[in-house]
Amino acid sequence: MPLPKAELHLHIEGTLEPELAFELAARNGVTLPYADADALRTAYRFEDLQSFLDLYYELMAVLRTERDFGDLADAYLARAAAQGVRHAEIFFDPQAHMARGVGMGTVVEGLWRALGGSQDNHGVSTRLIMCFLRDESAESAMETLEAARPYLDRIAGIGLDSAETGNPPGKFREVYEAAAALGLHRVAHAGEEGPPEYITEALDVLGVERVDHGLRCMEDPALVERLARERIPLTLCPLSNVRLRAVDALADHPLAAMLDAGLLCTVNSDDPAYFGGYAGDNFDAVRAALGLGEERLRELARNSFAASFLEHDEERRARYIAEVDAYEFP
Ligand SMILES: [Zn+2]
Repeated sequence: MPLPKAELHLHIEGTLEPELAFELAARNGVTLPYADADALRTAYRFEDLQSFLDLYYELMAVLRTERDFGDLADAYLARAAAQGVRHAEIFFDPQAHMARGVGMGTVVEGLWRALGGSQDNHGVSTRLIMCFLRDESAESAMETLEAARPYLDRIAGIGLDSAETGNPPGKFREVYEAAAALGLHRVAHAGEEGPPEYITEALDVLGVERVDHGLRCMEDPALVERLARERIPLTLCPLSNVRLRAVDALADHPLAAMLDAGLLCTVNSDDPAYFGGYAGDNFDAVRAALGLGEERLRELARNSFAASFLEHDEERRARYIAEVDAYEFP
């Protein structure tokens, strides 16, 4: 049995495995410019964030109906459960779908086909987090929040993703204020390719409760001290960092130093179909590359539940943490 854990940084569109992409393409009459799933898997080996994003958006064309989104989420939940994920907070990118004529309702209700039955079918509790694309305008983000209003009983929070450089958090101040007024949780990607100042801005201007990535905080000792003192969770994605060249090699990853600095770190998969591994694979990879001992791994698992948006079910959180404490490593 794998170590129980929560996954807090996972883009559902980034779980599209080549085989499912071809299955959905056939179902929807979409022609993909690749000979087969193997050829597509080769294309998944890109060099940087922009080349990844180009492929990522191209492939979204196969997602058309509620059934497609349900199948995508169900496939992720099955894989996550097999790797010890007990709770998943799942990002989705509505603007990328609405821009190609797929409505908010299709996306949310489609994902809900899988999420609604996840506890029974996979033993995984879930929450849904709607992300805005930061390379789109602030007006577009506000329109997206408006479009989500009928579905807010399905959506726990908002996030901010896509190309970070040149798109500082402050650009989205108004939509984050509107989301806060609606009682939504707030997170944002910051300090992955963008500078440490973006992390501070996400905290102070957007009021985020967690920082996605946050890796580059290590360049600013005062910021590290603040993040540790305020117990701000960071959702790190080690395999993603290597693939997108945020670090040169896994052995150079600052995770161990970040834990030593008292930061509340969690380990997640980001876009697992593209980055070479799901949540458990990321745990295994850092364990091997950084020589993390059992207590460090247990700390990471405990952190993941502590940082989860489970405030509506503290009993469940306590049960998950007790499972981590009682876990015996093989
Ligand atoms: Zn991400």
